[in-house]
Amino acid sequence: MASINANYDKLAAGYLFPEIARRTQVFLDAHPEVSVMRLGIGNTTEPLTKSVIAGLHDAVDQMARVETYRGYADGGEGEPEMREALAKRYAKYGVELDASEVFVSDGAKSDSANIQSIFGMDNVIAVQDPAYPVYVDSNVISGRTGEAVNDQYEGLIYMPCKEENGFMPEVPDQKVDLIYICSPNNPTGAVATRAQLQAFVDYAIEHKAVIIYDAAYAGYISDADLPRSIYEVEGAKSCAIEINSFSKDTGFTGVRLGWTIVPMDLIVEDAGAGKLNTLWGRRQNTFFNGASNIVQLGALSVFTEEGERECQELIAYYMENARIIRAGLRSLGITVFGGVHAPYLWLKTPNSMSSWDFFDKLLSEAHVVGTPGSGFGPAGEGYFRLSSFGHREDVERAVASIQANLKI
Ligand SMILES: *Cc1c(COP(=O)(O)O)cnc(C)c1O
Repeated sequence: MASINANYDKLAAGYLFPEIARRTQVFLDAHPEVSVMRLGIGNTTEPLTKSVIAGLHDAVDQMARVETYRGYADGGEGEPEMREALAKRYAKYGVELDASEVFVSDGAKSDSANIQSIFGMDNVIAVQDPAYPVYVDSNVISGRTGEAVNDQYEGLIYMPCKEENGFMPEVPDQKVDLIYICSPNNPTGAVATRAQLQAFVDYAIEHKAVIIYDAAYAGYISDADLPRSIYEVEGAKSCAIEINSFSKDTGFTGVRLGWTIVPMDLIVEDAGAGKLNTLWGRRQNTFFNGASNIVQLGALSVFTEEGERECQELIAYYMENARIIRAGLRSLGITVFGGVHAPYLWLKTPNSMSSWDFFDKLLSEAHVVGTPGSGFGPAGEGYFRLSSFGHREDVERAVASIQANLKI
């Protein structure tokens, strides 16, 4: 008799975005004449850059010729050129990596979800609160938590990100084993300073813990003093795994390409240097046959001078959207965080409204769809996320509507 993985039933109250879609549809059914404006989902909207398009076309042509055709790569870790190019990119941040420490994948979400599988079931997990949902949900599904009680899973350590701490948490005051950190952060838009990351690295070394560092928005950091990789911080190679993606800075959300760094120096209680790198390689080779070779070879164009400049322009476009949204909201007296080194704005709901009440108000009065902060964790209650991914004219229209119609 087959049975289900009952851990799925622990997942709290459905997924955030279906509930947003449901409420939006209810509103549209009642007001068929209205067209809503979306500043909600973190999805890119602008086309791929010229260099990437040329690279992808060229990669397709390589697959058309018998001399250059490739099937499976030698392993699921990635095409050698891509692993090499990514390792080299870190040299720019003063970080020395070997290509064997770079694992190419179909995206940062799957790596964020799967990475927990190389760690023991009794590891205590700490997450930023609020957080990108996959860190928590992957550990719930694998059985590392109890039930959700008052929006918190039993057995999970929540590290609250609040206004007082600049939305970067303090290190835990108890012993934890796996620590998920995302910087620049989705949803708060906060970015970790070198000193803040150093505190986590020092904690991890002291407790033989591992930091799982999601740097999917590192390309959005515009201040050279802020770390773009956790390995810029002393000691991080012995205690951190870094996950990153082409999705947000290259517009690959639908194309799919990401990577994970598992340094040879990484150690835990029962595994010395190289062991976790081997385990992740084993995991990928067992469950995964590698990211698309067309996508990997095409994306090599990103590492040219021209390719890099075009990515910078793409990022600048979204960050101008962020500036427009921030200025518009501030003109109404709304308190807004983020949107400087990340494409997200994190606003404090006016008059201490709940996140979902503000969602309904913004939708019914301004016809704008955003994302309730409480959907990312209990400490997100009373906050609201707006995304700066969008066509400029749509963003301007949404901001103008908020300014004209939102009653505060
Ligand atoms: C968008 C996003 C990712 C990207 O995931 P992909 O699977 O590479 O598209 C990863 N982490 C965070 C925090 C994100 O917001």
